[in-house]
Amino acid sequence: TARPHLLFGDQLGPHFSQDGADESGGPDRDAPLVMIESRAVLRRRRFHRAKAHLVLSAMRHRAAELGDRVRYVRADTYGEGLRTAGIGRGRRHATVHHPTSHAALGFVRRHSSLDVLPARGFLVSQEDFARWADGRRGGTLRMEDFYREVRRDHELLLDGHDQPAGGRWNYDHDNREPPPRDARTLGAPAPWLAEEDEIDDEVRHDLDRWERDGEVSFIGDDGPRLFPATRKEARAALRRFLDHRLAGFGAHEDAILAEDPWMSHSMLSVPLNLGLLDPVECVEGAEKRYRNGSAPLPSVEGYIRQVAGWREYVWHLYWHFGDDYRRSNKLNHRRALPGWFEELDADAVTARCLSSVLAQVRSTGWVHHIPRLMVLGSRALQSGWNPREVTDWFHRSFVDGYDWVMVPNVVGMSQYADGGRMTTKPYTSGGAYINRMSDYCGGCAYRPDVRVGENACPFTAGYWAFLDRHRERLEGNHRMSRPVAGLDRLKDLPELLEQEHRRGSSPP
Ligand code: SF4
Repeated sequence: TARPHLLFGDQLGPHFSQDGADESGGPDRDAPLVMIESRAVLRRRRFHRAKAHLVLSAMRHRAAELGDRVRYVRADTYGEGLRTAGIGRGRRHATVHHPTSHAALGFVRRHSSLDVLPARGFLVSQEDFARWADGRRGGTLRMEDFYREVRRDHELLLDGHDQPAGGRWNYDHDNREPPPRDARTLGAPAPWLAEEDEIDDEVRHDLDRWERDGEVSFIGDDGPRLFPATRKEARAALRRFLDHRLAGFGAHEDAILAEDPWMSHSMLSVPLNLGLLDPVECVEGAEKRYRNGSAPLPSVEGYIRQVAGWREYVWHLYWHFGDDYRRSNKLNHRRALPGWFEELDADAVTARCLSSVLAQVRSTGWVHHIPRLMVLGSRALQSGWNPREVTDWFHRSFVDGYDWVMVPNVVGMSQYADGGRMTTKPYTSGGAYINRMSDYCGGCAYRPDVRVGENACPFTAGYWAFLDRHRERLEGNHRMSRPVAGLDRLKDLPELLEQEHRRGSSPP
């Protein structure tokens, strides 16, 4: 008889339940499916309400689609759920696709009756990544090298056998435009946004009840569900992006507009990370739009770089660096995350950029990659907050945040807590960068070019204070030695440091 097959809450697309144990590493033919909705997961951590809603809604929608083929167990813990489903220690064997976190992998490995099948939902297998990483001279795992290899192996955007379409691998230069002058929005066609149904009503009702009973508590607003919860919705969101928004994606992908949070971003990391979409269909669909002339190459390359490059690279680094990587703290940042940040209290913050981004996170659980990196992450880095707490906060606060996503992105890329294993320099800047790439500064109480005094921009002052604090480490970094040398030209540095010391972790 077929072994039952367990589906985790981020394994919701058809590619996680396709039969075919022999050829493709899938579950047994006609395997009965098991899903477990664990309450303890929500009790242990304070998630954004919109995230808890989305994940439960997506799981329950999937269960409704699968009908009799699935046993949907509502349990306190995962272990209890397995026992209820008759799976577990000393019981009958079941299969599960490789889960997406070290904790979940440890859990399934502790249950010897769970047979782990290969991971799904990524372009590159763990074996292929290991082979690539082993072959790197000096052990440097550069995203750009990895990305080109993925392009070649998967024949993405190639001319002929192995040449990049258009003659260049990288269109970053074309994709770093500031926002259009004097425009409050990019004017892109609207993204696909969800409409709730009765399953959402039921989820909302349950979350309200658990919260009222004091069993769970959330951060963020209980807004309408915005992101796809089913395969059908995810496909509609993908089509909407590819047909209407991809063409305008590239040029302004790094820009921020206060009143246009979506701009031309795909927002598809959300259904991708729930397993509702497979990256293959995203990148192939994007390439098709280039080949048929409906989207320009820089936009298409920029998008494929995000999915086939960054997303894959982050997934594999998560496993490659191992579970201890999350504890990296090379800059010795020990300050606790302040309550106003933790609680998304945008109203307590004067700095317009930070206040606006926090407000968007509070209402939707999503902002695009630049506000995450250059506003939220940069502020955390400048303030010396504990990188583990910062990672946990990003994981809990974002609808697309999972352990595998946030550990490398926050510990490595955003907080430089690994001392440069992932990136060549810390990602942080003064107000000048935010001023160039957004429309925030004009309406702010601070001035991006002022570093000391009442109008001092907290990002500008914070940037110099950060460089000063880590001067010794950073002056040996060839990409940082010039900015560090700039410290010597600041006559008001002692005053600036005193001011930043006084500001501490109070809302800027
Ligand atoms: Fe942000 Fe500084 Fe600009 Fe104000 S002046 S919006 S704090 S970067």
